[in-house]
Amino acid sequence: MYLSSRIQNIKPSFIREILKVTAQSDAISFAGGLPNKDLFPLNELNAASSLVFAEHGVDALQYAATEGYPPLKQWISDQYRIREGLEVKPEQIVITNGSQQAFDLIGKVLLNEGDPLAIEQPGYLGAIQAFSFFRPAWQSVRLDEGGMNLDDIRKALKCSTRLFYSVPNFQNPTGLSHPNQNREAVADMLRDQECFFIQDDPYGAIQFSEQRYLSYASLLPNQTILLGSFSKTVVPAFRLGWVVVPEALIDPFLIAKQAIDLHTNSFCQRVLHEYVSGDSFAPHLTNIIDNYRAQKQAMVDAVVEMMPGGVSCSDPEGGMFIWLKLPENISARELLEYCMERKVVFVPGDTFYLGAEDGNELRMNYSCLSAEKIREGVKIMADGINQLASR
Ligand code: PMP
Repeated sequence: MYLSSRIQNIKPSFIREILKVTAQSDAISFAGGLPNKDLFPLNELNAASSLVFAEHGVDALQYAATEGYPPLKQWISDQYRIREGLEVKPEQIVITNGSQQAFDLIGKVLLNEGDPLAIEQPGYLGAIQAFSFFRPAWQSVRLDEGGMNLDDIRKALKCSTRLFYSVPNFQNPTGLSHPNQNREAVADMLRDQECFFIQDDPYGAIQFSEQRYLSYASLLPNQTILLGSFSKTVVPAFRLGWVVVPEALIDPFLIAKQAIDLHTNSFCQRVLHEYVSGDSFAPHLTNIIDNYRAQKQAMVDAVVEMMPGGVSCSDPEGGMFIWLKLPENISARELLEYCMERKVVFVPGDTFYLGAEDGNELRMNYSCLSAEKIREGVKIMADGINQLASR
């Protein structure tokens, strides 16, 4: 069958393949990346939806502005000021169909085929997939506890890279956050260069610690493209996210957005605005944070207690994932085979690297599991590691 060379270039997500195993209800899945549906504000969204119908009537069902629902944009701008001391003008915000759509907008506005694009490694698979449509020349920037590797940033700059993509807060897949010192060093290198830093921040509001992290939008105000999402703080089904762009990019982004889908679902924007601007959103957020913090702790404790020597894991200050390093000689893919037979799944780390095929790292998600299930699954993984190590 005839297909464009563009689509032939894109691999299906390995995570979605693994998730088929978890369709069996007794499986323990550390593989997903879903927010916990038991925490969704079902009744509140139901009430907000009725209110929107009652207050806005047919206007809520009409075509709407490309850039998004103005009161929602104003609310997002206010939150940046209150939470992070950031001045973001509502005009700089475009409401997107999930933050995932922002990758497509960025690609359409800023990437020509073969243009260099730097991404931290390991990095978010959905961004790799979305940007791959534009056939960039990928530049890897190694990521570890210290943040982004400065030599790799330097190398990327030498290759005239104009886009740097990163998830600095509670990253997917590692759970790591860049230390402020690293952010400052990266910003110093990029400042006044002809390049943009893409700060993807879907987990920023799900923070367990009190640490204040610097936003790239404050370090590089005219060079940062900031992505946000309501998928983890409210619900993913509405597909509501946003992108904040420097003023020079507002018009090109609006033209691209208009051409893609005219505008994001405006009914959902009104319902969501009704909900987040009411009194129940703040306690809801606290509840998510408290739950995920306890689940994260249960997972880290279980790993430390049950896994053999030579295994280490990240201890995230927010978000939904931990990153596990196995002893050098143990393959994450082989461990996955062992675990899948026992109905436990996780995502092998190579999935998050450009061009890697196996390795000794893996991602584990904790947001949807009880402490008991987390312990049960970690025990099976620990048994598997011991068995593979004794061969
Ligand atoms: N960026 C990262 C790092 C993510 O983990 C996700 C969701 N898995 C997204 C972007 C996309 O989120 P959404 O489109 O639901 O806003």
